[in-house]
Amino acid sequence: MITIRDKAQMRAHVAAARAAGRSVGLVPTMGAFHAGHHALMRAAREACDEVVVSLFVNPAQFNETSDLAAYPRDEARDAAEAAELGVDVLFAPSAEEVYPPGFATSVRVEGLGDVLEGAERGPGHFIGVCTVVAKLLNVVAPDVAFFGQKDAQQVAVLRRMAADLDIPARLEVVPTVREPDGLAMSSRNVHLSPDERRRAVSLSQALGAARDAIAEGERDGAAVRDVALAALARHGVEPEYLALVHPDTFEPLATVGARNLVAVAARVGRTRLIDNALIPTPRPAPVATLHAEGANPKKEP
Ligand code: AMP
Repeated sequence: MITIRDKAQMRAHVAAARAAGRSVGLVPTMGAFHAGHHALMRAAREACDEVVVSLFVNPAQFNETSDLAAYPRDEARDAAEAAELGVDVLFAPSAEEVYPPGFATSVRVEGLGDVLEGAERGPGHFIGVCTVVAKLLNVVAPDVAFFGQKDAQQVAVLRRMAADLDIPARLEVVPTVREPDGLAMSSRNVHLSPDERRRAVSLSQALGAARDAIAEGERDGAAVRDVALAALARHGVEPEYLALVHPDTFEPLATVGARNLVAVAARVGRTRLIDNALIPTPRPAPVATLHAEGANPKKEP
């Protein structure tokens, strides 16, 4: 694996790979790798010839300077893990390389980028995410870019951006990787104290409770929310938001639909955690066919 810090060199490397007929995959990250990042890298390794992992802690998407300052960083360890997983290039530019003097452009996805995470963290969050991802997609120009379902709204916002700006890369989504007790892997989990770590499982339990309620036939959005809120409350956790929304538009759902996303954000201690679950509604059982009297009713297969 090689490390590249320079945009021009990154472009030249990809151009050479492309000229050799190799497909290119990009995994954008902020480092501090865990099993979630590893899953994205494995997916890219399987699908593409040349795998580029970008490592850039993007100041533009942090709304709290303390969160940015505390963000875990260990490039040497990240590089060793990426190399172990067969990544070809670690693209780790400096902030000056990404945002040179005079930088003045930003990308905003209206609507989708303004609710839930956008509302809690401020509109600057997704503007920061979109701007840096648009730049990475322009510099690396991958065939496929890999993102985690863990950040479901980020995926929806980036899909909108890619469609609206005619960015040709395909976006692939990798399922959320979890700890054995259900806690979604996150670089921020290292900040949890042992007691907070125990309470943090309430987020995935809340999603499980919502899933169970829907599986048992609950169709009222407020009732689904209530069972999820109760699961959080059992651990003394109050959410910043807990919402039942459409997974593409992030419009709130008053009634459970065919495709549902339950998204939650909560602070456990001082650590802000997010999680979500895609919950399809099971199709209703087929209505029994009415047969003419005396006919032999056929059994459903
Ligand atoms: P980050 O470094 O936190 O910006 O995350 C980089 C990528 O990894 C994003 O596409 C995230 O959605 C994804 N990711 C983070 N945590 C997980 C996880 N637990 N499972 C799957 N993907 C994840």
